[in-house]
Amino acid sequence: MECFLHGCDYNPDQWLGRPEILAQDIEYMKEAGINEVTLGIFSWACYEREDGVYTFDWMDKIMDSMYENGIHVILATPSAGKPPWLVKKYPEVMRVREDRVRLQYGDRENQCNSSEIFREKVTKMDELLAQRYGNHPALIMWHVSNELYGVCHCKKCQQNFRLWLQHKYKTIDNLNIQYNGAFWSHIYNDWSELESPSTIGEQSLHALALDYQRFYSDLSIDLVNVEKEAIKKYCKDIPVTTNMHNLNCGINYSELAKVLDVTCWDSYPKWHCGRNEESDWEPAVDESFHYDFCRSLKKKPFYLMESTPSNTNWSDACKLKRPGMHMLSSMQAVASGSDSVQYFQWRKSRGASEKFHGAVIGHSGTNDTRVFQDVCEVGAKLEEIKKIQGAMTYSKVAIIYDWDNLRALEEQRSLKNNGKDFEYIIFEYYEALLKNYVSVDIISQCDDFSSYELIVAPVLYLFKPDTKKRITSYIETGGNFVMSAYSGLVNENDLAYESFPPYDLHQVFGVCAEETDVLCGDEDNKITYGGRSYRATYFCDLLRNQGATVLAEFEQDFYRGKPAVTKQTYGSGTAYYVASRMQEDFNYQFLSDVIDTHGIRRVLNCNYIEDVMVKERKKDGKKYLFIMNFSTKQRSVMVNDKEHILHGYECSIVTLPE
Ligand SMILES: [Zn+2]
Repeated sequence: MECFLHGCDYNPDQWLGRPEILAQDIEYMKEAGINEVTLGIFSWACYEREDGVYTFDWMDKIMDSMYENGIHVILATPSAGKPPWLVKKYPEVMRVREDRVRLQYGDRENQCNSSEIFREKVTKMDELLAQRYGNHPALIMWHVSNELYGVCHCKKCQQNFRLWLQHKYKTIDNLNIQYNGAFWSHIYNDWSELESPSTIGEQSLHALALDYQRFYSDLSIDLVNVEKEAIKKYCKDIPVTTNMHNLNCGINYSELAKVLDVTCWDSYPKWHCGRNEESDWEPAVDESFHYDFCRSLKKKPFYLMESTPSNTNWSDACKLKRPGMHMLSSMQAVASGSDSVQYFQWRKSRGASEKFHGAVIGHSGTNDTRVFQDVCEVGAKLEEIKKIQGAMTYSKVAIIYDWDNLRALEEQRSLKNNGKDFEYIIFEYYEALLKNYVSVDIISQCDDFSSYELIVAPVLYLFKPDTKKRITSYIETGGNFVMSAYSGLVNENDLAYESFPPYDLHQVFGVCAEETDVLCGDEDNKITYGGRSYRATYFCDLLRNQGATVLAEFEQDFYRGKPAVTKQTYGSGTAYYVASRMQEDFNYQFLSDVIDTHGIRRVLNCNYIEDVMVKERKKDGKKYLFIMNFSTKQRSVMVNDKEHILHGYECSIVTLPE
């Protein structure tokens, strides 16, 4: 593709008895610059109304009609939504909840991923689709399932879990050691004694809970792979993807990305719902994190697979996008590395749970609407900037957001058990990097560190087997590394290291954490850094200094005078340690100093301009600077001595030589 995709989920199966509507849709799509539709995500019942009786004629016509009108197709496999007959005939395809109750028919994406009959039926469907449409000239991509989510606890899944455990631990004695089985008499004699965690059963073995999440993520990814293989059997050259949507959906996206040809994200920020009516900076940072995450999975452009052209229908408050926000939010995705802007959905359903979800065409059926006009403008803009399609993002800074680490932090009990803010602590550091106008990748602890000049690792509680060695070698060979409090406490099975944290890095960082205190409610400690006083909140590591340079000390409580921020040169790199959750201004100033000290390149050389986000993509010797104003107020930005005035909710794209 030599242009951006401007597309939408399209559900013509809801309008098959209304040919005049289908004809009208195509005319409207062409007017709005829609060059792609995603078809068939929930079409199982239309393809296979009865077991083994298939009908594809209706999709033949839609595919042909799209091609004739110059509209590309991403064709989905319909495995996320099941027809009622399937569950009536094979009730085992439905999930069993953690309290061991099997679900009845209903909703979507709630199948048992171990179910052999489900896998068999899905494989058959996918093979038929690939045989029929694999060579269709409209087809540009396959979309497996939809928004993978959740776990099953049925007997079949328990059996598979035990096999997964055997593969991992080899012997039951080894599992007992890693699970610290003597605690509360949890010594297993046989694999058959192991059951997945449950509110009516096991809740105390954190390693078991972590393993069940890992097992189910692997199982879900395996099912994606089964679907991919079924497609590739008949259609080798068309890329396969699925839409990622929520970092806490139960899937390890770093692993999922390995079986996908391209990565995609569904984006639904809560615009205009913040405390500050003049600023949408908060949701913009949140969305920026997800885009940077999705791009970093393959270190190449991704696709924005879903976004709403107006409102959602599932938020606490389903607000409309204010004038200008649709263009700005679409450009934010492109700025972050997306090669598409796609919508859920083209036309509003008349019934069921998404009937009031935003769409390009509403129930009135007219194109004479503000939303349609907004969509047309984005279509025209994507055409205007089409030379940027395929441009790359190169980051010298990375932040570690590691799925296993986050899952383990959620399970463990310590510090504050109500209101675990670990994920927010990572977001706060990310925001501080964004405000420093550096390009940021979001990586796991297993990713290659070597291309980065600075890596920030907030609350890296769990170390995988090589992590300690990789951090040491990264710093030794010239890397700069910032680690925060509560890092390096446990191994990959949540088994505490026999050491002060951070495990076996005391020499590298010049400090070790002897204890960790918790600050309740609004309670804080104070530090002075660079002549300014900052609040330390949430938790404080009580550090023993083993040779590091102290940049700031705690100023209150019984650990007054202990190091709060330290720096140590190790090999040809530098190791920084921040012993608390610091007030956000500190994160910005501290990282700014680290960036300047080590000469790390910013995409824009200036201090943070309130509500202004800047991203960069590069292609063919040119760099494209996306300067985005998430305020309703005007902002002024200087680029190479030239002033750019940005009105409220405006994105300006500046082309510069590389
Ligand atoms: Zn199951």
